[in-house]
Amino acid sequence: MARGLIAGNWKMNGLQAALSEIEAVIAGIGNMSVSADILICPPATLISDATRRSAGSDLNIGGQTCHANESGAHTGDLSAAMLAEAGATYVIVGHSERRADHGETDAMVKAQADAVLSAGLKPIICIGETREEREAGKTADIILGQLRNSTPEAASGANFAIAYEPVWAIGTGLVPEMSDIQTAHAALRDCLADMKGADPAAATPLLYGGSMKPGNAADILALNDVNGGLIGGASLKATDFLAIYEAAGTAL
Ligand code: PEP
Repeated sequence: MARGLIAGNWKMNGLQAALSEIEAVIAGIGNMSVSADILICPPATLISDATRRSAGSDLNIGGQTCHANESGAHTGDLSAAMLAEAGATYVIVGHSERRADHGETDAMVKAQADAVLSAGLKPIICIGETREEREAGKTADIILGQLRNSTPEAASGANFAIAYEPVWAIGTGLVPEMSDIQTAHAALRDCLADMKGADPAAATPLLYGGSMKPGNAADILALNDVNGGLIGGASLKATDFLAIYEAAGTAL
């Protein structure tokens, strides 16, 4: 059975003052006994400071993307080793905003995930269908294709996670029917079993992402093949993020 993971993606939000939310999360989890991992991926500029503050706590800090190369002439980019040195232990790759805004393809995401693994970190590989693809009945084809083409050979078992994020549910307040989330996650688990074997597939955390909030987290996290969440908006406030983590304690 995969270990649970509640991951926050701050996106391009957060100056130094936002570190107080990280401190509040650290204080909050100190009073909880939840057997799931917890992670915040702040902007890269805050990774070192967040890592220093989270030392000795159960809070993990991660990056939101990285370049596939170790170094070189890639102005503005960061390598996985740079994120690791700053204190990251996970890196989100292939978020739909990166795929849409920066033209990242499955092949690029796969190379990034490989780089993350080579740096000794865990990639969280994001996949998900657009509204048009869903309405055309293509959800399974799209997400299983993304899974196969974005997951490197070296990713197996618990050294990575998959985040299923329907693009139309991100930041919109819209959430699929619970049965649709479970159907998608079960299909992903079956596909992973075909790719990696049944035991490694069972050990890979499958996260749901898209408008997860304190009010719906318990229902989503209770689904059979959901092992956690990737949370955007609701991870920015410690009280909301802690409420979701607390829900994971009962549901996962
Ligand atoms: C995300 O960006 O990964 C996400 C799930 O955002 P939100 O929770 O705001 O929908």
